[in-house]
Amino acid sequence: MHLPPILQSSRTWAQIDLNAIVHNLGVVRRANPGAMLIPVVKAGAYGHGLEPVARVLEQEGLAFFGVANVGEARRLAHASIRTKPYILGPTLLEEREEIVINGWQTFASTLDDIEHFNSLGQKCGKIVPLHLAFDLGMGRGGFLPSQLPELPSLIKSCHHVCINGVSSHLPSADEDEAATRQQIATFDSIVATLSPHFQLTYRHLANSAAAMAFSVPTANAIRPGLVLYGVSPVATPWQDELRPTLSLYSRITLIRELPAGQSISYGQTYRTTTSTKIATVGIGYADGLPRILARNGVCLSVHGILCPVLGRVTMDQVVIDVSHVPHAQLGDVVEVIGPHIPITTLATQAETIPWEIFTGIGPRVYRYYNS
Ligand SMILES: *Cc1c(COP(=O)(O)O)cnc(C)c1O
Repeated sequence: MHLPPILQSSRTWAQIDLNAIVHNLGVVRRANPGAMLIPVVKAGAYGHGLEPVARVLEQEGLAFFGVANVGEARRLAHASIRTKPYILGPTLLEEREEIVINGWQTFASTLDDIEHFNSLGQKCGKIVPLHLAFDLGMGRGGFLPSQLPELPSLIKSCHHVCINGVSSHLPSADEDEAATRQQIATFDSIVATLSPHFQLTYRHLANSAAAMAFSVPTANAIRPGLVLYGVSPVATPWQDELRPTLSLYSRITLIRELPAGQSISYGQTYRTTTSTKIATVGIGYADGLPRILARNGVCLSVHGILCPVLGRVTMDQVVIDVSHVPHAQLGDVVEVIGPHIPITTLATQAETIPWEIFTGIGPRVYRYYNS
């Protein structure tokens, strides 16, 4: 592998393909013709880098960017991203004036929320756009569907808010088809009930799994996250069209031949059984290599050859067996996620999900953009 100069002095980097993210957005768009897009770029665009990803996606004609909180919304604004953030989680009282002043979009889960935003609208001389969120089983926020009948009359007196959308979030779109169909039906009836009272410009509940596997008759916007980063949480005919967006690499920092009976790493959980050529690699759990890998017989790839991890992953380093890589040498590139090790494989071996692997890639890991 030829390394560009900036990487020659790096020991661990994520190679990020921004064009692939744009391409994947196109796949999602084709799978959901006509839907408005709220690409989710929370948690540093799932480890890919908030600002660089927002900058390329912004050209694609979006409704909003999905962010987790006000801090991420602020970063988009500082980066002069014009597409407004949509804040996906509940907000603290102290955070809301900033939302109102900047015209960011969020939602209400309670009448208190609506009244508070109304009073801030009054104070700032603004009409605050708000979506009404509904809890269909996720339990993190939203009105209960049973509160629906009383809502329109209670909201009508709040003249400084404008209900411009309705939203929900599906808790098991990638696990329970029957429950998800039921929740979608409930959403459709909520939209039908609210429509005569409000101009519901934005109607959305689909994450990646729902966007790729379900149709929602009354929705007109989707909030895809993971699928933009190349992984569909559900089996879909579109899977083959998605492109991987991130590879994770490190380098061999030391090579030694150890005799039989030598212990490796903390707790001495591994012992060589024969003379073994071992490599120390400059990546650890602080970089996002899950510590749990040690017990699951995981391999990293050197020159396309899979090399078992020996002993526990430490904070900054890990040891692998390179006995079967004849030309392995100091400085060689080690693939952790890439063509030979898909993120889904690493996630399974780490007994977790791709979302956690992506967002666990640490701040110390250099992000290299090849586009
Ligand atoms: C994170 C998040 C999403 C995106 O989820 P994916 O499964 O990554 O597509 C969508 N909506 C909400 C409310 C979220 O918090």
